[in-house]
Amino acid sequence: MYKAPLKEPDSSLPPRCPRCGADGLPVGPETLRAHLAPEAAESLGEPAYWCATDACPVAYFDLFERSVDADAAHGLYWPKDPAGPLCCCHGLTVDDVDADLAEPVPSRVRAVVQKAGQPDAACTTKSPDGRPCVARVQRYYMRQKQKG
Ligand SMILES: [Zn+2]
Repeated sequence: MYKAPLKEPDSSLPPRCPRCGADGLPVGPETLRAHLAPEAAESLGEPAYWCATDACPVAYFDLFERSVDADAAHGLYWPKDPAGPLCCCHGLTVDDVDADLAEPVPSRVRAVVQKAGQPDAACTTKSPDGRPCVARVQRYYMRQKQKG
């Protein structure tokens, strides 16, 4: 008789943010150390995760639902830090993108997209999620463009 395989617990799923329930993005220790004070970085177990939800106060969390709020982190991107840049690696801000939208050629956004493909892009430590900002920059650009 065929037996359905036992269902594994949700260990294969990305863990959820204890505050907002969104999937976490795994981050390495060098990313954590670049954005948290040493005590805060050590308060989280490995692996640690970044919560990418704009309105969620949590920055990082671990599998035991311990978390560090964005208030206690630094070098975060907008809008997690309302005064932060859109791209932490190259300092591109939402104002830069808005300025690009007012011009025929989005030269600032293009420059960031080009730089992000180069080997000296420091996203692992400069970006709080340890990933290139290009996708987020493009998403913001397109969203603003559609708003017209
Ligand atoms: Zn969250």
